[in-house]
Amino acid sequence: MPLWLAARRDSMSLAASLVVCFLFVVTNVQAEWVYQRQAIMGTDINLSLWHEDREKGEQAASAVMAEMHRIDKLLSPYKPTSELSILNRTAVLEPTPVSAELYALIDKSLFYSRVSEGAFDISFASLGQHYNYREQKKPRAEQLQALLPSIDYRQIKIDPASRSVFFANEYLQIDLGGIAKGYAVDQSIHILQDLGVQHATVSAGGDSRVLGDKRGKPWSVGIKNPRGKDEGHEAVALVLPMINGAISTSGDYERFFIDADTGERVHHIINPRTGVSVGGVASVSVLGPDGFDTDPLSTTVFVMGPIRGLALIEALPGFECIIIDRRGKVSYSSGLAAPAH
Ligand code: AMP
Ligand code: MG
Repeated sequence: MPLWLAARRDSMSLAASLVVCFLFVVTNVQAEWVYQRQAIMGTDINLSLWHEDREKGEQAASAVMAEMHRIDKLLSPYKPTSELSILNRTAVLEPTPVSAELYALIDKSLFYSRVSEGAFDISFASLGQHYNYREQKKPRAEQLQALLPSIDYRQIKIDPASRSVFFANEYLQIDLGGIAKGYAVDQSIHILQDLGVQHATVSAGGDSRVLGDKRGKPWSVGIKNPRGKDEGHEAVALVLPMINGAISTSGDYERFFIDADTGERVHHIINPRTGVSVGGVASVSVLGPDGFDTDPLSTTVFVMGPIRGLALIEALPGFECIIIDRRGKVSYSSGLAAPAH
């Protein structure tokens, strides 16, 4: 082969590989999965989204995190300046006008209180504020007796005309921990949609929502094995394929301690009738169109237990649920086929 031809061949393959490299770099810069993770609202926020323009994708992810911070500032019971904390101080004295957003959250919570006959009750906080899971503290017996009557959603009076809230019980306090994260993931998805994102998943602790699919295949959403961490089992009990929808999981393993005196698991889901943690169930996952419903429903079904909880889900079109009890028995609502053994 003449020398000039060999040289030309080499330069051609060099040119070809340059083109390949260039294309690779260009595609990587222009379209990519963007991931972000932050600790907000006392939980882990995880986000992944696809955007044709990486920089715009990063901006969209930051907009979601900013929204999470905004909601945390509005609804945190730990921030004395949050609208929720202010309401907890004033609504025992007089009807207090609130933002449309806070009103909608309280209104929705009261709806689930009514349909569950009090299993979901944001006034659990009247007593619930005396639990501290990190410090392994629970209310004293006298405190429990004294504050149990203040867990009563019927004493939360709301007026749509003045958009105000009044607590007709002087010790009543509310906490939106059972609905706020689902609402926050919905808000995040709406922001992403407005910014033209078509494929995304956002989760705030146990509340997740997926937008579109994972570019040609469904998203895989895992349901944790409630005892995975403690007992060395598989970390994930089930994996569900999902396109467009929300899933919320309430678990007795999220925030808990083992009572040194009784050996009981003291966890963050409170039975409003007794003022103590709900026994029997280990985890409840509810699937549906949005987190504003699946989040309160997962907490509600947890409190109601498998029989009444499943009956409630069966009565609500568009929702499904999976319940894992403390012995590991799994129950499904009728719209979900049990996996083959
Ligand atoms: P989730 O994380 O959705 O399972 O909800 C648990 C959170 O809901 C707790 O951390 C509390 O803030 C709140 N919560 C606990 N018990 C109840 C209840 N019976 N009704 C409404 N909210 C509750
Ligand atoms: Mg929930």
